[in-house]
Amino acid sequence: MHSLSAEADTKVLATKERIQPKFSTPLKVTGSTPGSERSVVCIGTVEIGAGQPVVIAGPCSVESYEQTLATAEAVKSAGAVILRGGAYKPRTSPYDFQGLGVEALEIMARVRETTGLPVVSEVLSTDDIDVVAEHVDMLQVGARNMQNFALLRRLGQLRKPILLKRSPAATVKEWLLAAEYLLAGGNSQVVLCERGIRSYDPELRNTLDLAGMALARQLSHLPVIADPSHATGRRDLIPAMSRAAFAAGADGLMVEVHPDPANALSDGMQSLDFPGFSNMMDMLFRGVGHNS
Ligand code: PEP
Ligand code: MN
Repeated sequence: MHSLSAEADTKVLATKERIQPKFSTPLKVTGSTPGSERSVVCIGTVEIGAGQPVVIAGPCSVESYEQTLATAEAVKSAGAVILRGGAYKPRTSPYDFQGLGVEALEIMARVRETTGLPVVSEVLSTDDIDVVAEHVDMLQVGARNMQNFALLRRLGQLRKPILLKRSPAATVKEWLLAAEYLLAGGNSQVVLCERGIRSYDPELRNTLDLAGMALARQLSHLPVIADPSHATGRRDLIPAMSRAAFAAGADGLMVEVHPDPANALSDGMQSLDFPGFSNMMDMLFRGVGHNS
């Protein structure tokens, strides 16, 4: 029978000793220490993490100038302070709409000029960092790229705010270690976004992990927002999950809104229309109505 030799035992122990100290203090720049101040991230004139809840809203994908402008005006008048809009879309199927690319970035920049809303859009590849950074106020790292370390390292060199979404399969620690790449590179303007983790219910695209969100906010000094659109995949659950996210301490929300969700080129099922968004904002901030 095979048994471990004393020499092998010693090797195992030595390995453990080498690993353990590294894991006891992994969050060198992202971690919070008792009594330390929370970070505030400025997107143009908007502060995230300063105590005032911030709502980012807009279409999943930029489809045209008219669609983006109409959405920006509607969400702004309902109280959103940052416009979102996808230019490079990470789609599960290569046959689905992939985004308008640079044309979409130009539309976002024009709409910012008209409305005054700062804009956020996703960067999918290191090749696109320069052009995305040139057009937007905040760069989004999507859930699928949370552990794209080449992308994170390059974004760590940038001096622009980053919205770091959690991968649906990542632990809170993996998510915070991804943020650590950005901060260790010198970019301290990082906002975390809980966008739902993979679960087993086919009625829900994902499950909004409020405990994970609260834990991330406790373990790090970074602002944390919630994305109830991707977290549920259903527009009827967005108001309830938004309210829950604020109750659990979220510094803000990111919500998908479209003028005609039934005909959206991506994520229509989880996009609110204009009246739906405005009703939700009334419910959240003016105490009118209840979760719908
Ligand atoms: C998005 O915000 O449109 C998006 C693709 O999000 P996620 O990376 O969370 O799926
Ligand atoms: Mn989307």
